[in-house]
Amino acid sequence: MRITFLGTSGGKPTKNRNCSAVAIRFDNQKNWYLFDAAEGTQRRLLQAGLKLSGLEAIFITHLHGDHCFGLPGILTTRMLDKIETPLKVFAPQGLKNMVASWVDISKDHLGYELEWITLSPEYEINFKEFSLKAIPMLHSIECYGFYIKTKQKSVLDSESLQKDGLPFGPLFGKIKEGKEVIYNGRRYLPSAYLKELERIRLIIAGDNADAEIMGESLKDLDLLIHECTYTQETYDSLEEKFLHTTATALGRVCKKWGVKNLIATHISPRYKDTAPLLKELRESFGKEPFIASDLQTYILKKESKEPSLYLCEPSDR
Ligand SMILES: [Zn+2]
Ligand SMILES: [Zn+2]
Repeated sequence: MRITFLGTSGGKPTKNRNCSAVAIRFDNQKNWYLFDAAEGTQRRLLQAGLKLSGLEAIFITHLHGDHCFGLPGILTTRMLDKIETPLKVFAPQGLKNMVASWVDISKDHLGYELEWITLSPEYEINFKEFSLKAIPMLHSIECYGFYIKTKQKSVLDSESLQKDGLPFGPLFGKIKEGKEVIYNGRRYLPSAYLKELERIRLIIAGDNADAEIMGESLKDLDLLIHECTYTQETYDSLEEKFLHTTATALGRVCKKWGVKNLIATHISPRYKDTAPLLKELRESFGKEPFIASDLQTYILKKESKEPSLYLCEPSDR
């Protein structure tokens, strides 16, 4: 699974960071999914090489502008590109009306069906590659995180098959379908050549003051993508407190639940250098976390019980 950060700033953009947007794409698939769509997401998509024709669905965590003000632009470009397939948008109540009034005022005819799905606590849906559940966050307005579980998938061990004498060809497909094959008097059983891949579990969280609110879902989670707006030190010195998470609090909750990988995002624009956030995260998490930057792509794999997460070089995007 490939995870591309299109925006990683909290509240407002900076010279180097756009506001929130993350794209996920599954191995060997053209289609991809977008989580939040802040202003500027379209240009990041162009830079990341993600085509709107492959966009399968959009999920919006909440209706603060730094998470959804890029949506009208994406929908309009889809119209200009004459993409006629329906598009699903999952969002809290209210966004549909915002977009409907904009379409009405600008007299735009999108030319495709926009299917709105209103999120509610525990909302669940199944896609081809994964299931998704909405988890309520603790924020100043209705806000969700998305708990994603990939489906069980089996891969064919082509190397062993060839080694055991089956020439590459249509018979491979039969074994992939779970059928027994007899070739040159030898039996090839699917169970010997199909390897079940482990399911990946991850959460893409929205703005949230307390990661603990996700409770059991965090247990042994393969990856948490979560806001990390402030260091504890900054937060303690703020006169007015906002419902966001500090690096210390985030790392602590991840450690408590055994979260395996952590990518922090939604960084306050006050941090030109993320070293203080990284230091706090490392100390409280007790493992090496990542702090996302715009246009980074991470690859998350799970070929055994332990997942692996690594940052791609720009050339393997
Ligand atoms: Zn935000
Ligand atoms: Zn917010």
